[in-house]
Amino acid sequence: MADLFRNDTNQKKMDKLRLKWAFANFDKTPSIDAQQNIIGHCACGRPNNKFKMNKQYCSRYCFLFMNTPAEDDPNKTMYEAWRGTGKYAYNPPYPKVYAACSWCSEDFNLGRGLKQANKHFCGNHCQQQANRSARSTSTRTGSKKVGDRVRIMRILREFVNHPLTASEVSSCWNQWFGSSCSAHKSANLLKILTAKGFVMKIKRGTELATYYSLNNDESLKSMFGESEVSRSIIG
Ligand SMILES: [Zn+2]
Ligand SMILES: [Zn+2]
Repeated sequence: MADLFRNDTNQKKMDKLRLKWAFANFDKTPSIDAQQNIIGHCACGRPNNKFKMNKQYCSRYCFLFMNTPAEDDPNKTMYEAWRGTGKYAYNPPYPKVYAACSWCSEDFNLGRGLKQANKHFCGNHCQQQANRSARSTSTRTGSKKVGDRVRIMRILREFVNHPLTASEVSSCWNQWFGSSCSAHKSANLLKILTAKGFVMKIKRGTELATYYSLNNDESLKSMFGESEVSRSIIG
């Protein structure tokens, strides 16, 4: 467990925010900022029904903007540092927000426009690789279900210091990816990923087993490798 907790202040702040988010996902806690408590709306004013990972925000852009520590002041989020910086207007122009691609881990500029604001991948290539279901003929990946395993890793990586049960993982999957994954299926996938050394299982007495990602630094691209994606399985 020890290397899960880093000493760096920014990382701690990020972990704390992630933890807060983790709890908010299962058990909504009101925010201190009134702007962030308007039912049905994101604090930016747009309707909040587009971002599946957390219904409090309209988009991944706003989620990151309102939860990432500010560069100059890690005690404030980017949003808190930005608010009130406009001299004549309450709201200055929105800043650029960079997000790490869920596959290659490279940063990309997340636009605020609704077509851009919920992207998880830097481009189509990464999206296709992350979602691929390689067929058994593939010798390079040695796996039929890369896309499913990648999804499990993406969920665990969003909850850095908060191990999840198989049924919590499946409820995130169903909410985030618009497809269905039973607790049984997620338990099987978690078992495979644990055997590969990507995931740690914690089991205490009669409590339900929980799981967390052991490796949050390496890109999923380098952990799972890339292979030819045939046109018929893209989507
Ligand atoms: Zn918003
Ligand atoms: Zn990428």
